[in-house]
Amino acid sequence: MYFNLFIHTTFSVLPHQNFSFQGYRVARWLTSSSMARSRSSSRSSNSSSDSSSSGSRYKRPWYKRIWSRSSKSDRSSKAVKAAGVIGLAQALLSSSATMSSQTTSTENSPLLAGPRPYHDEDNGQVKATHCEANPRTRGIIWGILTVLFVAGLVLLVGFQHLLADRFYPLFGLLPKDPMLAALAILDKAPVIDGHIDLPIITRAMFANNASAIDLESRMPEHVDIPRLRQGRVGGFFWGIYMACSPSEEEGEDFMTATWSVRDTLEQIDIARMLMEKYPKTFQFATGSDDIKSAIKNGKVASLMGVEGGHQLGNSLAVLRQYHALGVRYVTLTHTCHNAFADSCGFQPGIIPRHGGLSSLGRTLIDEMNRLGVLVDLSHTSDATAAQALNQSKAPVIWSHSSARAIHDVPHNVPDDVLRLVGTGEGQKDAVVMVNFAPFFVAQPGEANVEAVADHVDHIASVAGKKHVGLGSDYDGINSVPVGLEDIAELYKRGWNKYELAGLTGANLLRVFEGAEKVAQELQAAGQQPAYDLYEKRRDIPRIEL
Ligand SMILES: [Zn+2]
Repeated sequence: MYFNLFIHTTFSVLPHQNFSFQGYRVARWLTSSSMARSRSSSRSSNSSSDSSSSGSRYKRPWYKRIWSRSSKSDRSSKAVKAAGVIGLAQALLSSSATMSSQTTSTENSPLLAGPRPYHDEDNGQVKATHCEANPRTRGIIWGILTVLFVAGLVLLVGFQHLLADRFYPLFGLLPKDPMLAALAILDKAPVIDGHIDLPIITRAMFANNASAIDLESRMPEHVDIPRLRQGRVGGFFWGIYMACSPSEEEGEDFMTATWSVRDTLEQIDIARMLMEKYPKTFQFATGSDDIKSAIKNGKVASLMGVEGGHQLGNSLAVLRQYHALGVRYVTLTHTCHNAFADSCGFQPGIIPRHGGLSSLGRTLIDEMNRLGVLVDLSHTSDATAAQALNQSKAPVIWSHSSARAIHDVPHNVPDDVLRLVGTGEGQKDAVVMVNFAPFFVAQPGEANVEAVADHVDHIASVAGKKHVGLGSDYDGINSVPVGLEDIAELYKRGWNKYELAGLTGANLLRVFEGAEKVAQELQAAGQQPAYDLYEKRRDIPRIEL
Protein backbone atom coordinates (compact mmCIF):
# COMPACT_ATOMS: atom_id res chain seq x y z
CA MET A 1 0.00 0.00 0.00
CA TYR A 2 2.91 2.31 0.73
CA PHE A 3 4.30 1.70 -2.67
CA ASN A 4 1.06 2.39 -4.39
CA LEU A 5 0.93 5.61 -2.45
CA PHE A 6 4.57 6.28 -3.22
CA ILE A 7 4.25 5.71 -6.94
CA HIS A 8 1.09 7.75 -7.12
CA THR A 9 2.63 10.59 -5.16
CA THR A 10 5.80 10.56 -7.19
CA PHE A 11 4.03 10.74 -10.49
CA SER A 12 1.54 13.29 -9.36
CA VAL A 13 4.32 15.73 -8.47
CA LEU A 14 6.55 15.01 -11.44
CA PRO A 15 6.67 17.91 -13.87
CA HIS A 16 7.59 15.68 -16.79
CA GLN A 17 4.44 16.33 -18.79
CA ASN A 18 4.83 20.05 -18.52
CA PHE A 19 8.49 19.62 -19.19
CA SER A 20 7.79 17.79 -22.45
CA PHE A 21 5.26 20.34 -23.41
CA GLN A 22 7.63 23.21 -22.75
CA GLY A 23 10.37 21.47 -24.67
CA TYR A 24 7.97 20.95 -27.51
CA ARG A 25 7.00 24.62 -27.51
CA VAL A 26 10.63 25.69 -27.58
CA ALA A 27 11.38 23.33 -30.43
CA ARG A 28 8.39 24.59 -32.35
CA TRP A 29 9.33 28.16 -31.78
CA LEU A 30 12.80 27.47 -33.10
CA THR A 31 11.62 25.58 -36.15
CA SER A 32 8.72 27.84 -37.03
CA SER A 33 11.10 30.81 -36.93
CA SER A 34 13.52 29.15 -39.26
CA MET A 35 10.68 27.91 -41.43
CA ALA A 36 9.36 31.41 -41.79
CA ARG A 37 12.78 32.51 -42.91
CA SER A 38 13.05 29.50 -45.17
CA ARG A 39 9.74 30.22 -46.86
CA SER A 40 10.73 33.81 -47.36
CA SER A 41 14.00 32.71 -48.88
CA SER A 42 12.41 30.18 -51.18
CA ARG A 43 10.00 32.74 -52.52
CA SER A 44 12.93 34.82 -53.77
CA SER A 45 14.69 31.98 -55.54
CA ASN A 46 14.00 29.48 -58.23
CA SER A 47 13.51 26.18 -56.55
CA SER A 48 12.21 23.89 -59.28
CA SER A 49 15.39 21.85 -59.53
CA ASP A 50 15.58 21.61 -55.73
CA SER A 51 12.02 20.33 -55.66
CA SER A 52 12.72 17.48 -58.02
CA SER A 53 15.92 16.64 -56.23
CA SER A 54 14.35 16.53 -52.81
CA GLY A 55 11.36 14.69 -54.20
CA SER A 56 13.51 11.73 -55.15
CA ARG A 57 15.35 11.84 -51.84
CA TYR A 58 12.11 11.99 -49.90
CA LYS A 59 11.36 8.38 -50.84
CA ARG A 60 14.54 7.12 -49.23
CA PRO A 61 14.50 5.77 -45.69
CA TRP A 62 14.67 8.45 -43.02
CA TYR A 63 17.97 7.31 -41.63
CA LYS A 64 19.62 7.48 -45.06
CA ARG A 65 18.27 10.95 -45.58
CA ILE A 66 19.80 11.98 -42.28
CA TRP A 67 23.15 10.30 -42.52
CA SER A 68 23.96 10.22 -46.32
CA ARG A 69 26.61 12.69 -47.27
CA SER A 70 25.97 14.39 -50.57
CA SER A 71 28.86 15.58 -52.68
CA LYS A 72 26.76 18.55 -53.56
CA SER A 73 26.94 21.40 -51.18
CA ASP A 74 24.01 23.25 -52.58
CA ARG A 75 21.48 24.80 -50.27
CA SER A 76 18.60 22.65 -51.40
CA SER A 77 20.48 19.48 -50.46
CA LYS A 78 21.18 20.83 -46.99
CA ALA A 79 17.60 21.87 -46.65
CA VAL A 80 16.41 18.36 -47.40
CA LYS A 81 18.82 16.92 -44.83
CA ALA A 82 17.57 19.36 -42.28
CA ALA A 83 14.04 18.43 -43.17
CA GLY A 84 14.91 14.79 -42.55
CA VAL A 85 16.24 15.54 -39.07
CA ILE A 86 13.21 17.63 -38.37
CA GLY A 87 11.08 14.74 -39.53
CA LEU A 88 12.73 12.53 -36.97
CA ALA A 89 12.24 15.11 -34.27
CA GLN A 90 8.64 15.51 -35.33
CA ALA A 91 8.08 11.81 -34.95
CA LEU A 92 9.61 11.93 -31.50
CA LEU A 93 7.60 14.91 -30.46
CA SER A 94 4.35 14.08 -32.19
CA SER A 95 2.82 12.64 -29.03
CA SER A 96 3.46 15.95 -27.33
CA ALA A 97 1.60 17.72 -30.07
CA THR A 98 -1.62 16.02 -29.10
CA MET A 99 -1.31 17.53 -25.64
CA SER A 100 -1.35 21.03 -26.96
CA SER A 101 -4.97 22.10 -27.06
CA GLN A 102 -3.95 25.54 -25.85
CA THR A 103 -1.44 26.23 -28.58
CA THR A 104 -1.87 28.88 -31.18
CA SER A 105 -2.46 28.17 -34.83
CA THR A 106 1.23 28.76 -35.49
CA GLU A 107 2.11 26.18 -32.88
CA ASN A 108 -0.28 23.74 -34.44
CA SER A 109 1.43 23.87 -37.79
CA PRO A 110 3.55 20.81 -38.52
CA LEU A 111 7.19 20.90 -37.60
CA LEU A 112 8.38 19.30 -40.78
CA ALA A 113 9.12 21.34 -43.79
CA GLY A 114 7.53 19.32 -46.55
CA PRO A 115 5.51 20.22 -49.63
CA ARG A 116 3.18 22.88 -48.33
CA PRO A 117 1.17 25.63 -49.96
CA TYR A 118 1.92 29.29 -49.63
CA HIS A 119 0.35 32.37 -51.03
CA ASP A 120 2.34 34.00 -53.78
CA GLU A 121 1.93 37.69 -53.07
CA ASP A 122 3.18 38.67 -56.53
CA ASN A 123 0.53 36.95 -58.62
CA GLY A 124 -2.06 35.99 -56.01
CA GLN A 125 -1.75 32.25 -56.71
CA VAL A 126 -1.34 29.51 -54.23
CA LYS A 127 1.74 27.47 -55.02
CA ALA A 128 3.29 24.38 -53.58
CA THR A 129 6.95 24.32 -52.69
CA HIS A 130 9.39 22.85 -50.23
CA CYS A 131 10.25 24.65 -47.10
CA GLU A 132 13.93 24.73 -47.62
CA ALA A 133 15.33 28.12 -46.90
CA ASN A 134 17.97 29.04 -44.36
CA PRO A 135 19.14 25.47 -43.97
CA ARG A 136 22.31 26.58 -42.17
CA THR A 137 20.37 27.86 -39.15
CA ARG A 138 18.10 24.87 -39.12
CA GLY A 139 20.99 22.52 -39.53
CA ILE A 140 22.79 24.09 -36.58
CA ILE A 141 19.70 23.87 -34.35
CA TRP A 142 18.96 20.30 -35.19
CA GLY A 143 22.59 19.39 -35.09
CA ILE A 144 22.73 20.61 -31.52
CA LEU A 145 19.57 18.73 -30.65
CA THR A 146 20.94 15.57 -32.24
CA VAL A 147 24.21 15.87 -30.36
CA LEU A 148 22.29 16.36 -27.11
CA PHE A 149 20.11 13.36 -27.89
CA VAL A 150 23.09 11.14 -28.62
CA ALA A 151 24.93 12.44 -25.55
CA GLY A 152 21.88 11.62 -23.44
CA LEU A 153 21.83 8.10 -24.82
CA VAL A 154 25.52 7.65 -24.12
CA LEU A 155 25.03 8.89 -20.57
CA LEU A 156 22.09 6.58 -20.01
CA VAL A 157 23.92 3.53 -21.31
CA GLY A 158 27.44 4.28 -20.10
CA PHE A 159 26.59 5.60 -16.66
CA GLN A 160 23.46 3.60 -16.03
CA HIS A 161 24.32 2.71 -12.45
CA LEU A 162 25.19 6.24 -11.43
CA LEU A 163 22.12 7.70 -13.07
CA ALA A 164 19.85 4.89 -11.91
CA ASP A 165 20.51 5.53 -8.24
CA ARG A 166 19.62 9.18 -8.69
CA PHE A 167 16.79 9.10 -11.18
CA TYR A 168 15.06 5.72 -10.76
CA PRO A 169 13.36 6.84 -7.52
CA LEU A 170 11.83 9.80 -9.36
CA PHE A 171 9.88 7.28 -11.42
CA GLY A 172 8.91 5.00 -8.56
CA LEU A 173 11.75 2.59 -9.31
CA LEU A 174 14.33 1.36 -6.83
CA PRO A 175 17.98 2.45 -7.07
CA LYS A 176 20.36 -0.12 -8.53
CA ASP A 177 22.56 -0.09 -5.45
CA PRO A 178 21.14 -2.78 -3.10
CA MET A 179 21.75 -0.75 0.05
CA LEU A 180 20.09 2.35 -1.42
CA ALA A 181 17.24 0.16 -2.63
CA ALA A 182 16.79 -1.32 0.84
CA LEU A 183 16.77 2.14 2.39
CA ALA A 184 14.22 3.32 -0.17
CA ILE A 185 11.98 0.39 0.76
CA LEU A 186 12.37 1.08 4.46
CA ASP A 187 11.53 4.74 3.95
CA LYS A 188 8.13 3.66 2.65
CA ALA A 189 7.68 0.49 4.70
CA PRO A 190 9.44 1.03 8.03
CA VAL A 191 10.04 -1.79 10.46
CA ILE A 192 7.36 -2.74 12.95
CA ASP A 193 9.41 -4.75 15.44
CA GLY A 194 7.60 -7.48 17.35
CA HIS A 195 9.68 -7.27 20.50
CA ILE A 196 12.03 -4.70 22.04
CA ASP A 197 12.98 -5.01 25.69
CA LEU A 198 13.67 -1.35 26.40
CA PRO A 199 11.50 -1.30 29.60
CA ILE A 200 13.50 -4.04 31.33
CA ILE A 201 16.70 -2.07 30.60
CA THR A 202 15.19 1.00 32.20
CA ARG A 203 14.24 -1.08 35.25
CA ALA A 204 17.63 -2.71 35.61
CA MET A 205 19.77 0.35 34.88
CA PHE A 206 17.65 3.39 35.74
CA ALA A 207 15.29 2.10 38.47
CA ASN A 208 12.37 2.88 36.16
CA ASN A 209 12.95 6.60 36.60
CA ALA A 210 12.05 8.23 33.31
CA SER A 211 13.66 11.54 34.31
CA ALA A 212 17.02 9.77 34.59
CA ILE A 213 16.81 8.35 31.09
CA ASP A 214 17.95 10.20 27.99
CA LEU A 215 16.74 8.32 24.96
CA GLU A 216 18.06 11.07 22.68
CA SER A 217 21.63 10.17 23.58
CA ARG A 218 23.24 6.78 23.19
CA MET A 219 21.70 4.24 25.54
CA PRO A 220 23.84 1.48 27.07
CA GLU A 221 22.35 -1.34 25.01
CA HIS A 222 20.70 -1.31 21.58
CA VAL A 223 17.76 1.07 21.50
CA ASP A 224 17.61 4.85 21.63
CA ILE A 225 15.90 7.45 19.50
CA PRO A 226 18.78 8.15 17.07
CA ARG A 227 19.18 4.46 16.36
CA LEU A 228 15.42 3.93 16.00
CA ARG A 229 15.45 6.67 13.40
CA GLN A 230 18.57 5.40 11.69
CA GLY A 231 17.08 1.90 11.55
CA ARG A 232 13.84 3.16 9.96
CA VAL A 233 11.72 1.80 12.81
CA GLY A 234 8.09 2.83 12.33
CA GLY A 235 6.76 0.99 15.34
CA PHE A 236 7.49 -1.65 17.91
CA PHE A 237 5.99 -3.58 20.74
CA TRP A 238 7.55 -2.47 24.01
CA GLY A 239 8.24 -5.73 25.82
CA ILE A 240 6.50 -5.70 29.21
CA TYR A 241 8.57 -8.39 30.83
CA MET A 242 9.27 -9.74 34.27
CA ALA A 243 11.31 -12.90 34.69
CA CYS A 244 9.77 -16.13 35.86
CA SER A 245 10.22 -16.78 39.53
CA PRO A 246 12.44 -19.73 40.36
CA SER A 247 10.26 -22.81 40.24
CA GLU A 248 10.83 -23.56 43.94
CA GLU A 249 9.36 -20.13 44.75
CA GLU A 250 6.54 -20.36 42.23
CA GLY A 251 5.34 -23.71 43.55
CA GLU A 252 4.06 -26.66 41.61
CA ASP A 253 0.60 -25.15 41.16
CA PHE A 254 1.86 -21.59 40.49
CA MET A 255 0.02 -20.55 43.64
CA THR A 256 2.81 -18.99 45.66
CA ALA A 257 2.21 -15.26 45.81
CA THR A 258 4.63 -13.31 43.64
CA TRP A 259 4.95 -9.69 42.69
CA SER A 260 4.52 -10.39 38.98
CA VAL A 261 1.37 -8.32 38.52
CA ARG A 262 2.77 -5.36 40.46
CA ASP A 263 6.02 -5.53 38.55
CA THR A 264 4.20 -5.83 35.24
CA LEU A 265 2.21 -2.70 36.07
CA GLU A 266 5.47 -0.91 36.84
CA GLN A 267 6.82 -1.93 33.44
CA ILE A 268 3.68 -0.69 31.74
CA ASP A 269 4.09 2.54 33.67
CA ILE A 270 7.70 3.15 32.61
CA ALA A 271 6.85 2.35 28.99
CA ARG A 272 4.05 4.91 29.05
CA MET A 273 6.21 7.48 30.87
CA LEU A 274 8.90 7.24 28.20
CA MET A 275 6.35 7.48 25.39
CA GLU A 276 4.99 10.63 27.03
CA LYS A 277 8.47 12.04 27.62
CA TYR A 278 9.23 11.98 23.89
CA PRO A 279 5.96 12.88 22.17
CA LYS A 280 7.77 13.99 19.03
CA THR A 281 9.12 10.47 18.61
CA PHE A 282 6.64 8.05 20.13
CA GLN A 283 2.93 7.74 19.45
CA PHE A 284 1.03 5.41 21.75
CA ALA A 285 -0.76 2.79 19.69
CA THR A 286 -3.37 0.20 20.57
CA GLY A 287 -4.64 -0.70 17.11
CA SER A 288 -3.63 -1.17 13.50
CA ASP A 289 -5.04 2.24 12.58
CA ASP A 290 -2.85 3.80 15.27
CA ILE A 291 0.21 2.19 13.71
CA LYS A 292 -0.62 3.58 10.29
CA SER A 293 -1.36 6.98 11.80
CA ALA A 294 1.97 7.07 13.66
CA ILE A 295 3.94 6.12 10.55
CA LYS A 296 2.06 8.71 8.53
CA ASN A 297 2.97 11.29 11.20
CA GLY A 298 6.63 10.28 11.04
CA LYS A 299 6.52 8.86 14.55
CA VAL A 300 7.29 5.50 16.08
CA ALA A 301 4.09 3.58 16.84
CA SER A 302 4.42 2.36 20.40
CA LEU A 303 2.52 -0.75 21.38
CA MET A 304 2.85 -2.98 24.43
CA GLY A 305 3.11 -6.74 24.75
CA VAL A 306 3.25 -8.69 28.03
CA GLU A 307 5.89 -11.40 27.74
CA GLY A 308 4.55 -14.30 29.71
CA GLY A 309 1.31 -15.76 31.06
CA HIS A 310 2.94 -15.95 34.50
CA GLN A 311 2.55 -12.13 34.59
CA LEU A 312 -1.25 -12.54 34.61
CA GLY A 313 -1.34 -13.86 38.18
CA ASN A 314 -3.51 -16.77 36.94
CA SER A 315 -6.32 -14.28 36.36
CA LEU A 316 -8.45 -13.47 33.30
CA ALA A 317 -9.51 -10.25 35.02
CA VAL A 318 -5.87 -9.14 35.01
CA LEU A 319 -5.77 -9.81 31.27
CA ARG A 320 -8.76 -7.49 30.80
CA GLN A 321 -7.09 -4.76 32.81
CA TYR A 322 -3.85 -5.10 30.91
CA HIS A 323 -5.90 -4.74 27.75
CA ALA A 324 -7.55 -1.63 29.18
CA LEU A 325 -4.08 -0.18 29.77
CA GLY A 326 -3.20 -0.76 26.13
CA VAL A 327 -1.51 -4.18 26.08
CA ARG A 328 -2.09 -5.79 22.68
CA TYR A 329 -0.31 -9.10 22.93
CA VAL A 330 0.36 -11.60 25.66
CA THR A 331 3.02 -14.27 25.20
CA LEU A 332 1.34 -17.39 26.55
CA THR A 333 4.49 -18.41 28.43
CA HIS A 334 8.01 -17.22 29.05
CA THR A 335 10.65 -19.84 29.91
CA CYS A 336 8.48 -21.30 32.72
CA HIS A 337 5.22 -23.19 32.61
CA ASN A 338 2.25 -21.34 34.06
CA ALA A 339 -1.40 -21.98 34.86
CA PHE A 340 -2.37 -21.53 31.20
CA ALA A 341 0.24 -23.33 29.12
CA ASP A 342 3.52 -25.18 28.81
CA SER A 343 6.74 -23.42 27.91
CA CYS A 344 9.53 -24.70 25.67
CA GLY A 345 11.94 -23.68 28.43
CA PHE A 346 15.36 -22.35 27.67
CA GLN A 347 17.29 -25.61 27.43
CA PRO A 348 15.95 -28.81 25.84
CA GLY A 349 14.34 -31.38 28.07
CA ILE A 350 11.78 -29.39 30.08
CA ILE A 351 9.03 -31.73 31.30
CA PRO A 352 5.55 -30.64 30.19
CA ARG A 353 3.02 -29.67 32.85
CA HIS A 354 -0.24 -29.63 30.87
CA GLY A 355 0.69 -31.29 27.58
CA GLY A 356 0.19 -27.94 25.89
CA LEU A 357 -2.70 -25.70 26.90
CA SER A 358 -4.57 -26.13 30.16
CA SER A 359 -8.33 -25.76 30.23
CA LEU A 360 -7.88 -22.26 31.61
CA GLY A 361 -5.37 -21.61 28.81
CA ARG A 362 -8.03 -22.36 26.20
CA THR A 363 -10.38 -19.96 27.94
CA LEU A 364 -7.57 -17.39 28.05
CA ILE A 365 -7.22 -17.60 24.27
CA ASP A 366 -10.98 -17.22 23.83
CA GLU A 367 -10.89 -14.11 26.00
CA MET A 368 -7.89 -12.70 24.13
CA ASN A 369 -9.77 -13.25 20.86
CA ARG A 370 -12.80 -11.41 22.26
CA LEU A 371 -10.69 -8.49 23.45
CA GLY A 372 -8.47 -8.25 20.39
CA VAL A 373 -5.27 -9.12 22.27
CA LEU A 374 -2.89 -11.02 20.00
CA VAL A 375 -1.92 -14.53 21.05
CA ASP A 376 1.90 -14.65 21.06
CA LEU A 377 3.46 -18.11 20.76
CA SER A 378 7.13 -17.26 21.28
CA HIS A 379 8.59 -19.24 24.20
CA THR A 380 5.75 -21.80 24.14
CA SER A 381 6.19 -25.54 23.75
CA ASP A 382 5.47 -27.08 20.36
CA ALA A 383 2.30 -28.68 21.74
CA THR A 384 1.13 -25.33 23.15
CA ALA A 385 1.77 -23.65 19.80
CA ALA A 386 -0.04 -26.30 17.77
CA GLN A 387 -3.04 -26.34 20.14
CA ALA A 388 -3.18 -22.54 20.29
CA LEU A 389 -3.20 -22.30 16.49
CA ASN A 390 -6.21 -24.58 16.54
CA GLN A 391 -7.92 -22.89 19.48
CA SER A 392 -7.56 -19.28 18.37
CA LYS A 393 -10.25 -17.85 16.14
CA ALA A 394 -7.93 -14.93 15.38
CA PRO A 395 -4.57 -14.85 13.60
CA VAL A 396 -1.62 -15.24 15.97
CA ILE A 397 2.00 -14.11 16.16
CA TRP A 398 5.41 -15.28 17.24
CA SER A 399 6.72 -11.92 18.44
CA HIS A 400 10.39 -13.00 18.46
CA SER A 401 11.16 -16.52 17.21
CA SER A 402 13.24 -18.01 14.43
CA ALA A 403 13.38 -21.34 12.55
CA ARG A 404 14.43 -24.54 14.31
CA ALA A 405 15.45 -26.14 11.03
CA ILE A 406 18.17 -23.48 10.71
CA HIS A 407 19.23 -23.49 14.37
CA ASP A 408 18.00 -26.28 16.62
CA VAL A 409 17.01 -24.68 19.92
CA PRO A 410 13.65 -25.12 21.70
CA HIS A 411 12.75 -21.43 21.31
CA ASN A 412 12.65 -21.66 17.52
CA VAL A 413 9.62 -22.82 15.54
CA PRO A 414 9.77 -26.35 14.05
CA ASP A 415 8.64 -27.05 10.51
CA ASP A 416 5.65 -29.15 11.56
CA VAL A 417 4.27 -26.12 13.42
CA LEU A 418 5.21 -23.76 10.58
CA ARG A 419 3.13 -25.96 8.27
CA LEU A 420 0.07 -25.10 10.38
CA VAL A 421 0.54 -21.45 9.43
CA GLY A 422 -1.25 -20.11 6.38
CA THR A 423 -4.69 -19.61 4.97
CA GLY A 424 -5.38 -23.14 3.73
CA GLU A 425 -7.45 -25.94 5.24
CA GLY A 426 -6.37 -26.62 8.82
CA GLN A 427 -4.08 -23.59 8.87
CA LYS A 428 -4.20 -20.29 10.74
CA ASP A 429 -2.96 -16.92 9.54
CA ALA A 430 0.09 -15.88 11.54
CA VAL A 431 3.38 -14.04 11.35
CA VAL A 432 6.64 -15.45 12.70
CA MET A 433 8.81 -12.47 13.61
CA VAL A 434 12.43 -13.53 13.34
CA ASN A 435 14.61 -13.08 16.42
CA PHE A 436 18.13 -11.61 16.17
CA ALA A 437 19.44 -13.06 19.45
CA PRO A 438 22.71 -14.82 18.50
CA PHE A 439 21.92 -17.87 20.65
CA PHE A 440 18.62 -18.32 18.75
CA VAL A 441 20.23 -17.65 15.35
CA ALA A 442 23.33 -19.88 15.12
CA GLN A 443 26.10 -21.71 16.93
CA PRO A 444 28.32 -19.48 19.10
CA GLY A 445 30.39 -17.18 16.94
CA GLU A 446 28.43 -17.93 13.78
CA ALA A 447 25.49 -15.55 14.08
CA ASN A 448 25.68 -13.08 11.23
CA VAL A 449 23.37 -11.33 8.83
CA GLU A 450 23.41 -14.27 6.43
CA ALA A 451 22.26 -16.60 9.20
CA VAL A 452 19.39 -14.26 10.12
CA ALA A 453 18.41 -14.11 6.45
CA ASP A 454 18.54 -17.93 6.34
CA HIS A 455 15.90 -18.02 9.10
CA VAL A 456 13.72 -15.56 7.22
CA ASP A 457 14.12 -17.51 3.98
CA HIS A 458 13.35 -20.82 5.65
CA ILE A 459 10.17 -19.63 7.37
CA ALA A 460 9.12 -18.08 4.07
CA SER A 461 9.80 -21.33 2.22
CA VAL A 462 7.64 -23.38 4.61
CA ALA A 463 4.89 -20.95 5.66
CA GLY A 464 5.12 -18.35 2.88
CA LYS A 465 6.59 -14.88 2.59
CA LYS A 466 3.38 -13.37 3.94
CA HIS A 467 3.97 -15.08 7.27
CA VAL A 468 7.35 -13.78 8.29
CA GLY A 469 8.30 -10.59 10.11
CA LEU A 470 10.97 -9.11 12.39
CA GLY A 471 11.15 -9.32 16.19
CA SER A 472 14.66 -8.22 17.09
CA ASP A 473 14.64 -8.82 20.87
CA TYR A 474 16.91 -5.76 21.11
CA ASP A 475 17.74 -4.76 24.67
CA GLY A 476 16.83 -8.28 25.73
CA ILE A 477 20.01 -9.83 24.34
CA ASN A 478 23.67 -9.37 25.10
CA SER A 479 24.98 -9.10 21.54
CA VAL A 480 23.71 -8.97 17.98
CA PRO A 481 24.64 -10.91 14.84
CA VAL A 482 27.62 -9.66 12.86
CA GLY A 483 26.88 -7.45 9.88
CA LEU A 484 23.24 -6.82 10.73
CA GLU A 485 23.65 -3.29 9.40
CA ASP A 486 23.71 -4.79 5.90
CA ILE A 487 19.98 -4.45 5.49
CA ALA A 488 20.13 -5.33 1.80
CA GLU A 489 20.83 -9.06 2.31
CA LEU A 490 17.31 -10.24 1.48
CA TYR A 491 16.99 -7.77 -1.39
CA LYS A 492 20.16 -9.26 -2.82
CA ARG A 493 18.57 -12.70 -2.43
CA GLY A 494 15.72 -11.68 -4.70
CA TRP A 495 12.98 -10.53 -2.35
CA ASN A 496 11.02 -7.83 -4.14
CA LYS A 497 9.89 -4.60 -2.54
CA TYR A 498 6.37 -5.85 -1.83
CA GLU A 499 7.66 -8.99 -0.13
CA LEU A 500 10.13 -6.92 1.86
CA ALA A 501 7.42 -4.47 2.87
CA GLY A 502 5.46 -7.48 4.15
CA LEU A 503 8.45 -8.65 6.12
CA THR A 504 9.15 -5.27 7.67
CA GLY A 505 5.60 -4.56 8.80
CA ALA A 506 2.71 -5.24 6.44
CA ASN A 507 2.40 -8.91 7.43
CA LEU A 508 2.10 -7.95 11.09
CA LEU A 509 -0.45 -5.30 10.20
CA ARG A 510 -2.55 -7.84 8.29
CA VAL A 511 -2.51 -10.26 11.23
CA PHE A 512 -3.34 -7.47 13.68
CA GLU A 513 -6.24 -6.30 11.55
CA GLY A 514 -7.45 -9.90 11.37
CA ALA A 515 -7.44 -10.16 15.17
CA GLU A 516 -9.29 -6.85 15.48
CA LYS A 517 -11.93 -8.07 13.04
CA VAL A 518 -12.44 -11.30 14.98
CA ALA A 519 -12.82 -9.31 18.21
CA GLN A 520 -15.45 -7.08 16.64
CA GLU A 521 -17.34 -10.08 15.32
CA LEU A 522 -17.26 -11.95 18.64
CA GLN A 523 -18.44 -8.92 20.56
CA ALA A 524 -21.13 -8.22 17.98
CA ALA A 525 -22.26 -11.83 18.32
CA GLY A 526 -22.66 -11.26 22.05
CA GLN A 527 -19.75 -13.29 23.42
CA GLN A 528 -19.53 -12.46 27.12
CA PRO A 529 -16.35 -11.94 29.17
CA ALA A 530 -14.92 -15.13 30.65
CA TYR A 531 -15.08 -15.32 34.45
CA ASP A 532 -13.40 -18.69 34.92
CA LEU A 533 -11.20 -18.97 38.00
CA TYR A 534 -7.98 -20.90 38.17
CA GLU A 535 -8.95 -24.23 39.70
CA LYS A 536 -6.27 -24.11 42.37
CA ARG A 537 -7.43 -20.81 43.81
CA ARG A 538 -9.28 -20.94 47.10
CA ASP A 539 -9.20 -17.26 48.01
CA ILE A 540 -12.41 -16.49 46.11
CA PRO A 541 -15.57 -18.38 47.10
CA ARG A 542 -17.06 -20.39 44.23
CA ILE A 543 -20.64 -19.85 43.22
CA GLU A 544 -22.75 -22.26 41.23
CA LEU A 545 -24.70 -20.65 38.42
ZN1 LIG B 1 11.70 -13.47 24.95
